[in-house]
Amino acid sequence: MAQGEDFMPSERQCALCKAQYEPREVSHIVPKFVYKWLKSTSVTKVMRFGPEMNKRVQDGIKDYFLCEACEDRFGKYEATFASEIFHPFTKNNSHVKSYGDFMLQFAVSVSWRVLAYNKHRLHHFRGRHAEAVDATLKVWSDYLLGRCDGIGTHEMHLLPLCGIVECSSSNVPENINRYLRRVVEIDVVVSDKTAFTYAKLGPLILIGLIAYPDLFHWEGTKISSAGVFPSKDFGASSQLQDYIFSRCNRFAELEAGISERQLQKIKVSYEQNMDELEQSDTYKALLMDLELAKKLKA
Ligand SMILES: [Zn+2]
Repeated sequence: MAQGEDFMPSERQCALCKAQYEPREVSHIVPKFVYKWLKSTSVTKVMRFGPEMNKRVQDGIKDYFLCEACEDRFGKYEATFASEIFHPFTKNNSHVKSYGDFMLQFAVSVSWRVLAYNKHRLHHFRGRHAEAVDATLKVWSDYLLGRCDGIGTHEMHLLPLCGIVECSSSNVPENINRYLRRVVEIDVVVSDKTAFTYAKLGPLILIGLIAYPDLFHWEGTKISSAGVFPSKDFGASSQLQDYIFSRCNRFAELEAGISERQLQKIKVSYEQNMDELEQSDTYKALLMDLELAKKLKA
């Protein structure tokens, strides 16, 4: 699909309910409140680091995708998730909250968008798990349209990963806390045996299982129709850890590629915002990485 953002087609079919509609605004793959949060907790209130560097991905998160009725429905799930879970958790990382239906509805709506959007885009993924992808999209759509009550084995898992200060692994990337706290991105992660959607909403990582035979890898992370988030103990697969580490390394490479001129600009805007720097989450994440680096060297 090669439509630029300036070109608005006169009619399209909604990717979820299949109704014909006249596109008025672009749909967001990653909910807007996540970007608002990222901006408001950065130093200069301008997005420069993180997703800004990863511009290709960011550009890909808006498209003409859903009809107004489906947008509205997703908007309701997003509003509840933002006020009940996301904002309290990003303000206070020990926030614990019981949840109802909205949690699974929100999670499925995001994972469905990630998969529906990426189905024909990601090359590494073409052909592999094709049947599982179709089955997953069908179950998630049916659930979102109220045609079934559950999502079977295509489970949702939500991980609160606001940073680490200790790690037994020796190859932990130096920017792990900056990645965990600050990066927003979406992907579909694929191996021979497994496939899942990955939506990194700042410090919350949402996983939607497409094909995943060893469900026991996930402990205390599954979203039910009602429950408490986060659970006291949780664990995820080593495949996810490897994937997260590889993303950290990718971001380090991107950072290393920033021009001298760009760095100078960033430095100046930081110096002009010293008070906000100390209060910002960007700065906190950096301090956590420095702390971790000291411990790993000791
Ligand atoms: Zn629709």
